[in-house]
Order: sequence, then C-alpha cells, then structure tokens
Amino acid sequence: MLNGMRTRTCPFCKEDIHTQALVCRYCRRDLPPMAQQGGKTSHGWLAAIVAAGIIASGAAFLAAEFLRERKNWLTEPARPPEPQNPPD
Ligand SMILES: [Zn+2]
Repeated sequence: MLNGMRTRTCPFCKEDIHTQALVCRYCRRDLPPMAQQGGKTSHGWLAAIVAAGIIASGAAFLAAEFLRERKNWLTEPARPPEPQNPPD
C-alpha cells in the first residue's frame, strides 16, 4: 500500500494507481479525470474568472445597448400620437 489517500483503483484493470495519474501504469489506458472528491479544485478560480469575465462583458454590452437606446430616445423623443379630428 502506498499512501492510502494518494491512490485510486484503475477502472479497467483494478490496480492501485496514483489519484492524479492520467494513464494507468499497469494497463496503459487513458484514465478519466479524477472526480472531485470534496477537495479544492485548482480550476475553481479559473472558472470564476471566466464567469466573471462573461458577466462583465455581458453587462458592458447591455450598458452600451442601453446608452445607445437612450441616445435614440433623446434624439427622437417619442411623441404621443396626436388625435386627429376628422374634418367634418
Ligand atoms: Zn489499469
């Protein structure tokens, strides 16, 4: 037994391999990425940054659209339709 916490079982050959192994050293097969086991994932911050970037860009886009629409409102004020009395 190695360190106990540092090994998992290969789904193909059922041998104990390193938790972060990408290829089984026994059967040489590609291994699926290690499932999250409650520990911190090193990509969590990256996903957060990407999500924040998407949200920020989306907000900026919406703000730009809003300002453009607002400009249109200012240049072309919406006038209520004037009731036209039919000439009689
Ligand atoms: Zn294996």
